[in-house]
Amino acid sequence: MNAVSSSCPVCGCDDMWRQKNFPQSIGLFMVGLAMALSTWAWMRYEPVWALGILLFFALIDWVLYIVMPDVLVCYRCRARISGLPNEAIVPKFDLEIQERYRQEEIRRNQQSPPAN
Ligand SMILES: [Zn+2]
Repeated sequence: MNAVSSSCPVCGCDDMWRQKNFPQSIGLFMVGLAMALSTWAWMRYEPVWALGILLFFALIDWVLYIVMPDVLVCYRCRARISGLPNEAIVPKFDLEIQERYRQEEIRRNQQSPPAN
């Protein structure tokens, strides 16, 4: 396992998290589509199809999880850095750290409100 330098090249922030490089909107759409199709099959008294549809989408999700590369995301500026080796040790998303940066941004905006 390699420890990777996890500081943001854009803002220099040391806190980054790892996530799959896959658009969340497409992922949510796939979940919604699986739910709708499975419900439709269940409504037509086809329980094998209803479960099969869910298993099919679970298989797609699993394959995407294996195939899609990871990216580093900066807590402060949300920059996404690709090219991360799979064995790199980078922490997963932490809501507490995210909240700290969110509060920091709020304080910064209160001190110097945007000119408009
Ligand atoms: Zn950054």
